[in-house]
Amino acid sequence: MDIAVIGSNMVDLIAYINDMPKMGETLEAPDFKMGCGGKGANQAVAAATLGAKVMMLTKVGDDIFAENTIRNLKQYGINTDYVESVEGVSSGVAPIFVDQSSQNRILIIKGANQYLKPADIDRAAEQLKQCKLFILQLEIPLETVYYAIDFANSHGIQVILNPAPASKTLDIRYACHCDFFMPNETELEILTGLPVQSMEEIQAAASVLLSKGLKNLIVTLGDKGAVWLTEDKKVFIEPYPVKAVDTSGAGDAFIGCFAYHYIQSHDIAESMKMASLFAAYSVTGQGTQSSYPNKDQFEQLKQ
Ligand code: ATP
Repeated sequence: MDIAVIGSNMVDLIAYINDMPKMGETLEAPDFKMGCGGKGANQAVAAATLGAKVMMLTKVGDDIFAENTIRNLKQYGINTDYVESVEGVSSGVAPIFVDQSSQNRILIIKGANQYLKPADIDRAAEQLKQCKLFILQLEIPLETVYYAIDFANSHGIQVILNPAPASKTLDIRYACHCDFFMPNETELEILTGLPVQSMEEIQAAASVLLSKGLKNLIVTLGDKGAVWLTEDKKVFIEPYPVKAVDTSGAGDAFIGCFAYHYIQSHDIAESMKMASLFAAYSVTGQGTQSSYPNKDQFEQLKQ
């Protein structure tokens, strides 16, 4: 195994609506789509689709979505030996309402993801020990994230921590034990309580975190690209100019692709350039995982 993603999976339940029903009202909507998502699963898929050997440690519910989620992961060649179903609990689901102007309203029900516990890391320890890199996000209990970081540290495994969704209760000392801390602008703003409108402001907010001992801070900036900051270095990666259709899952695409390239080259700036190209492609199509390029498409993009 190259990479273990210890994180969430969600089923996106997307209703395309003309109007939002008022309280007590029932309305017809023109279309509906179901998709596999969740930050952890998206990142696992992005890395696996490029050829990384990925295992996923996650929990599914006791419902019809569980089988679909596992089948989807397997389809990308992701190892699901340690994906367990939680009895009497729903899978993680995200009912999404998209109106005619493409604005969306999203509900997240974490469901089984809340049941991924430190004991699950112990359960998968032998396989996890063989990985080069862990990817973690915050859609699972924080105690599990902290336990995974400690586990990685004690076995010489590198760690990417994506602090999403932003949590003010995240203990930044754990982030300092990760090799990469990868928030987007909004998460950086919430974590520091500082504005992030300009590059100067981003750098000032980043300095607050770096002064606490973070090793590598990579901030994704949407259509403005991405920046890698350390105590003494700042490397800006230009975005690839594309016509954006749907940016959901772009951050996950970036992280999964970065991880795939980083474990091979250990070249951070080059891995960010590849991630930026992969993520730019993903915003040109609808959905999250369904908008990611496959290996052949990505090879063509690179030319
Ligand atoms: P999401 O929460 O939607 O998954 P995010 O907010 O975590 O995304 P972003 O910072 O929006 O992540 O995007 C991640 C990366 O994707 C950016 O650093 C950039 O490389 C690429 N990207 C995003 N939007 C665009 C765009 N409109 N044009 C080109 N590249 C983009």
